[in-house]
Amino acid sequence: MALSKTKYCNALQCHKMGWLEEHCPNEKGPLSSEAILDNGTEVGKVAKDLLGPHIDIKYNEDLEVMLSDTKHLLLLQNVVITEASFFYDSLFCSVDLLKKQGDSFEVYEVKSATELKPVFIEDLAYQVYILLQLGYRVDKASVVYLNRNYVRKGNLNLKELFHVEEVTSIVFDKQKEVARNIKEIISCNQQKEEPEQVLGMQCVKPYDCPFFAYCTKSCEKPNVFDLRRMQQSKKFAFYQKGVYRFEDLLKEKIDWKIRQQIEFELYQKEPFIDKKAIASFIDTLSYPLYFLDFETFQQAIPLYDGIKPYMQIPFQYSLHYIEKENGKLEHKEFLAEALKDPRRALAEQLVQDIPQDVTVLAYNMSFEKTVIKQLAYLFSDLSDHLMNIHDHICDLMIPFFKRSYYTKEMQGSYSIKYVLPALFPNDPSLDYHHLELIHNGSEAMNAFARLGELSLEEQQQVRKNLLTYCQLDTYAMVKIWEVLKDIVLEKV
Ligand code: SF4
Repeated sequence: MALSKTKYCNALQCHKMGWLEEHCPNEKGPLSSEAILDNGTEVGKVAKDLLGPHIDIKYNEDLEVMLSDTKHLLLLQNVVITEASFFYDSLFCSVDLLKKQGDSFEVYEVKSATELKPVFIEDLAYQVYILLQLGYRVDKASVVYLNRNYVRKGNLNLKELFHVEEVTSIVFDKQKEVARNIKEIISCNQQKEEPEQVLGMQCVKPYDCPFFAYCTKSCEKPNVFDLRRMQQSKKFAFYQKGVYRFEDLLKEKIDWKIRQQIEFELYQKEPFIDKKAIASFIDTLSYPLYFLDFETFQQAIPLYDGIKPYMQIPFQYSLHYIEKENGKLEHKEFLAEALKDPRRALAEQLVQDIPQDVTVLAYNMSFEKTVIKQLAYLFSDLSDHLMNIHDHICDLMIPFFKRSYYTKEMQGSYSIKYVLPALFPNDPSLDYHHLELIHNGSEAMNAFARLGELSLEEQQQVRKNLLTYCQLDTYAMVKIWEVLKDIVLEKV
């Protein structure tokens, strides 16, 4: 089989990507999280009911079976079919939702995104092309995607949860272009030689290309693609000019933070410490000091009332605190039960654990502030206390964001995942790699989302790992704050 709809869209993004998929699939890196998200199966399953009663074509590795099942169902006069499958001249597609009324077809492409992206229309145009070539009458083509403003109240309301955007005329206008694209893609894929393709924005739009590491393997490292604070379009513009080595980039007009990253890594510079700026930051903090970190998860399809698609739902926090100067470091934590809306229990414990009017430190505080604000909006009885916590949050990231403290190991980043190992390179107790199973926020999110599927024993183990991970996040903040304090006290 030459093409599926995914392969068509990939090759449309870059013909070389399509060729590599065919000829060097082992060179493929992981898919981008956005690409996985857009095609999320959970949303597809829920959307099956959108048009009412339907019949599923079950996935079968033998596509002939899917084609034959579809053929039988198409004998019915009026029917909604999910995954109806079609084959024409080496082109294959499964239609997410197909409504047949007499000889009129409506096709619906379901996406987990919350906006209509041009690539979705390309995808649909390819499917319509196959149907038209097979002689079917397509009267309507629509993209189905999530309504980001939908708030669940009781049972899911599919008509409100999904936007159905009809794009029939755009898809029809594209048919000649689709025919041309298919011809080009197939001819490119049949070439023996790897096609030439200069790196450019097609490597990251609409999705990060999984062959990027392969295509850049001959570029000397570090290079322009290792820069953290440069826009993608600028990186590709430099690359296309032949300026991608760090030495060459220094001759260009670039932002001072980018220059600093390059110089520190290239010349192995000693750490830069602006003691005065760090002292003014430390001066803004007063005891008692609370160090707070949330873990959250997201649901494309809201499971609980009051939740929108992809809203951040807090399920865990870790809190270290020191009441007074030279006081003892104490710890509190919260981890929700599986399969329950965690927000009320978490908010209640949070207001018990953090008194009003105390300094609360978070790392990259906009995240913690948003979570608390949402809780305050939801629970009016706790709102004053929650907003008091919100208003007393300070950002421990500031000295690193402003580059008051910078080392080459930070590699242009101010994320705690770079700052911590840069400050404590040889301390296994502060190394996320030494943790069991859960090493980052995404793993924590996935582990919690699947907690309800596990046996009690497995749940206990995962809960232990979640607590250890989140505790390290706030313990790391305490250690970073201590380093800053020691700089001011001239202990460093
Ligand atoms: S990395 Fe860029 S040039 Fe290479 S295959 Fe992917 S999109 Fe094409």
